[in-house]
Amino acid sequence: MLLAALTEPLLGLHGVGPAAVRALARLGLATVGELLEHYPRGYEDRSRITPLAQAAPGRPVVVQATVAAHRWFGPRRRHLRVELAAEQPQAPPPAALLCFGRRYLARSLPVGAQVTVAAVFARRGARLEAAAFEVQSGADAASFGRIIPVYALTEGVRPALLRRIMLAACDRLRELRTPWDAWCRRRGLLPVAAAVRALHFPDDAAALRRARNSLAYAELLRLQAALYRRQPPRRAPRRLRGDLPRRAADGLRFALTGGQKAALQEIVAGFGAARPSARLLQGEVGSGKTLVALLAAAWVIEAQEQVALIVPTELLARQHARTAAAVLAPWGVSVALLTGSAFAGAGGRRDARRGALLAALRERRIDLLVGTHALLQEDVAFAALGLVIVDEQHRFGVDQRRRLRERNPAADLLLMTATPIPRSLALTVYGDLELSALRERPPGRRAVRTHLARSDRLEEVFGRVRRELAAGGQAYFVAPQIGAADAGPPPAPPGPAPAAAPDARSLHAALSARVYPEFAVGLIHGAMPEPQKQAAMEAFRTGELAVLVATTVVEVGVDVAAATGMVVLGAERFGLATLHQLRGRVGRGVRQGYAFLIYTPPLTATGAERLRALKETGDGFELAERDLAQRGPGELLGLRQAGLPELRVADLERDLALARQARRDARAGAPE
Ligand code: ADP
Ligand code: MG
Repeated sequence: MLLAALTEPLLGLHGVGPAAVRALARLGLATVGELLEHYPRGYEDRSRITPLAQAAPGRPVVVQATVAAHRWFGPRRRHLRVELAAEQPQAPPPAALLCFGRRYLARSLPVGAQVTVAAVFARRGARLEAAAFEVQSGADAASFGRIIPVYALTEGVRPALLRRIMLAACDRLRELRTPWDAWCRRRGLLPVAAAVRALHFPDDAAALRRARNSLAYAELLRLQAALYRRQPPRRAPRRLRGDLPRRAADGLRFALTGGQKAALQEIVAGFGAARPSARLLQGEVGSGKTLVALLAAAWVIEAQEQVALIVPTELLARQHARTAAAVLAPWGVSVALLTGSAFAGAGGRRDARRGALLAALRERRIDLLVGTHALLQEDVAFAALGLVIVDEQHRFGVDQRRRLRERNPAADLLLMTATPIPRSLALTVYGDLELSALRERPPGRRAVRTHLARSDRLEEVFGRVRRELAAGGQAYFVAPQIGAADAGPPPAPPGPAPAAAPDARSLHAALSARVYPEFAVGLIHGAMPEPQKQAAMEAFRTGELAVLVATTVVEVGVDVAAATGMVVLGAERFGLATLHQLRGRVGRGVRQGYAFLIYTPPLTATGAERLRALKETGDGFELAERDLAQRGPGELLGLRQAGLPELRVADLERDLALARQARRDARAGAPE
């Protein structure tokens, strides 16, 4: 709300009676400020008058004409046709206004009167007729002789009345000053009041553009300032050396990619800054973010501080703890794991072991703690927390991220995601974040080949995967749901049954008994107890299982290099990002990876578009842009959820340049 200062109620504003107040209240508009921030959905150009003889059908026109006759028609002659004649009757096409039920128009449109009418005519045989029209009465400055605003449907308030009310409300802008006006002027834009007025009643297209830009900028400026205000306090300088990370990197069985080195450098530069850094590392699936995170952690650990690595699932926590131990433990770094079920077992013993771990943490005997959201619990206290890393950060709520930051204001923050946020959004929503991108994957990796197949061709896909398995590969089969625990089919609902989504349990039964009896087929899903999940994952990792039937528990982060096949059933039920993530589980070794996306027709238009996009590109950044185009920014944003000002005019795609400017200006001291 840029106009929150205009708190005057609507009643009493010129032309606003109690009925209109009630109708506007239903739209959430109670004050002059709220009303004025109800921006037009479009405009109609009523600045020119068209001679009746030249009125074209199908387009809004304003005509001047003489009322030639009244004709009553319909049952009990309830309806009126007002026949119009051109003012200079040369060859006038007969034109008429159809007044269904609006008998009172007979009085306001008397025969012989000269009238100005805004209408959209339709051709009926040789004549023009309009059933929707507005008649000018008096000097109606809100609706005639200019470009007029068109508002989203306003039940209970006639458009002409709403425009009149809006014009009266614009009067109240004359006195309004806002904290953003000076910055708007500095950027060659209009102050807020002038921009709001011109957005409702623009003089011409150029004025409209300028008004829109001005308000978009003001909104973005306010948002960026709100974000910037949240930045953490200064801290004592930290001594960074780099021996430990160098030794750890040299100990790897491969060299870092150029992209990994560059990202690491950007991240570490922030560690030396006077204020804690916050950075979002957007890395393509399989680009090697884990290693970047661990080496970044090594810099902080070497400076005698601790690191927390938070991930969304236990599977991932275990996998990362294992990798961390392999990469860092040889150099004296102590790594520990804390998850919800890490200390499963009898209550007393469990608490004792958890207590021991927390004590070690407080005494700085643990350098790197890996875990799930269990790390967010109040009693998990570090002696000297220097860095918080959040992997697959999009899996955490806006709120969790903020709490994390607030609880550890002095620690650096590194967020990682393989679901890139389009640049425009990142800049806006994460105005307080620096961005690093990691697009390149380790050398020798080939792009995953993606095939789309209808569900009736499933057997062919089975055959294709069989060859892959026979050649020593491994495959995931992912189903959209777990399935009922007992084998019996659920009772059929009355009416045509919806196409049943494939489920993991029955898929597992079919694959192990019928399709691949010669291979070991395992099952993993979210409802399984944690130890069983671990066992299944471990068996797949070591190659004991050739096939792993899964739900989306394997969506993020899971890293098994020998897996080459990813078969997704009911692919139309998954979002773009999920499918891209799932596909990223294969092709992590030197062998070619394959993804088969199985769908059940009919597809919706967006469903078809989504699958096509996945087939066409393997580039997560491009997919993210397409996702934004499909879903719109609102869904991705969650601004209100984060307690941030909403954007009404600014469009994050179109206004990228303004967002950048606003970000710079917010940092230069623009007010919230
Ligand atoms: P993601 O970015 O999706 O989190 P991971 O960190 O899981 O990717 O890395 C994927 C795989 O690539 C891991 O098995 C990792 O060991 C391997 N890897 C990482 N960096 C390199 C590199 N520079 N050269 C070769 N393999 C690498
Ligand atoms: Mg990862």
